[in-house]
Amino acid sequence: MEDLGNLYIVATPIGNLEDITLRAIRILKEVDYILCEDTRTTENLLRHYDIKAKTMSYHAHSSMGKENTIINLLKNGKNLALVSDAGTPCISDPGVMLVSSIYKEFGNDAKVIPIPGPSALISALSSSGVSVAEFTFLGFLPHKKGRETIFKEISNSKRVIVFYESVHRILKTLASLIKHTPNGKVTIGRELTKQFEQFVKGNPEEILKYFELNKDKIKGEFVVIVEPK
Ligand code: SAM
Repeated sequence: MEDLGNLYIVATPIGNLEDITLRAIRILKEVDYILCEDTRTTENLLRHYDIKAKTMSYHAHSSMGKENTIINLLKNGKNLALVSDAGTPCISDPGVMLVSSIYKEFGNDAKVIPIPGPSALISALSSSGVSVAEFTFLGFLPHKKGRETIFKEISNSKRVIVFYESVHRILKTLASLIKHTPNGKVTIGRELTKQFEQFVKGNPEEILKYFELNKDKIKGEFVVIVEPK
């Protein structure tokens, strides 16, 4: 029987294409297939680094059949890399179901290997000036059911809270923070590692006012950090 193949979980840039490790580039060159959230997005990165690997799609809506194909490739000794559109796969990104199925299939023989690199939450925390010996990461907040409850939890939290937010909901989220955590200290990291990268700090009302006065800044991708009272 062939040795089991490796599944590398490869972090890719969250904006600036230079943010990729030497090891990630080597692994992407060496593997038999790269499993991509969106093959077109990843092909831009591969072109930039002249990587000629074969891409396959694997995303949130991939079927069990796709997972079985991937498991069979590993059984046949093929080495695979999993990437998402940006940042670290499986962190608010597809991949967890696949990794979990691989452990179910192969137990402790599974070879799932992290290739660490960028992640928006760590990038935001690192430059926020917020003391984060401990923090709670919430990923994306629920859109409807449970949303109010989460904001109550945020306001009562004894730990720094970090979550991801999209441009479509950032103002709504600030309004909820004004309601539940009016005196909270908030840091927003926007468009990190990109041309219009910025950090905005203040209480929720100050930040909302800032964005109302600077509507051109209500664009891109956001990480929200809320400090405990
Ligand atoms: N797996 C990714 C990671 O490790 O950071 C996160 C993927 S999640 C689908 C995308 C969210 O991450 C965005 O909505 C935004 O909240 C955050 N994000 C990603 N890139 C970002 C950036 N350059 N600046 C700020 N936030 C970013």
